[in-house]
Amino acid sequence: MQNRVLSPEAKRQIRDNGFGISGSIGGITRQKYFTPDGREILAIPSLRGYQSRDGSGGIRDANLDNGWLLQPPTALKLYCRYCDKWHDTQADIDQCGKKRNSFISRYQKEAEKMTADAIPAVAQLKSDMEKMKQMLAQLLARDGGNNGSLFQPEIDNT
Ligand SMILES: [Zn+2]
Repeated sequence: MQNRVLSPEAKRQIRDNGFGISGSIGGITRQKYFTPDGREILAIPSLRGYQSRDGSGGIRDANLDNGWLLQPPTALKLYCRYCDKWHDTQADIDQCGKKRNSFISRYQKEAEKMTADAIPAVAQLKSDMEKMKQMLAQLLARDGGNNGSLFQPEIDNT
């Protein structure tokens, strides 16, 4: 078994920021993060061990995967409500929104088409079911209610 060691990057982050720079709340140490649009967030670090292919490993903070930063951003970015991340310009955000909307409308169209295709199939099933009910009623009528030939009680061989 291999010992887990802090990656050089994690060590540097701890040296620069300390563990839980903003103190603890209810005994759980929280870390101060900055969003690229300049907001501050207090959150519990989401530390994950990782192992690289070359055998080295360490601990990374999955919160940083959100785009959060440990230092205040030097150049602010704009928050994008479409992808919940950040872009450099409003044009990039508009582009992101367009992409997302076309993605959504493409799947909406596909869903509508699937529904339209399903309607005749369901109608066919209903009609088949109706025919089977009629056939069953005819068979039962032919049996004359004498409880004999058509349906027999299961024989219990135990
Ligand atoms: Zn976006």
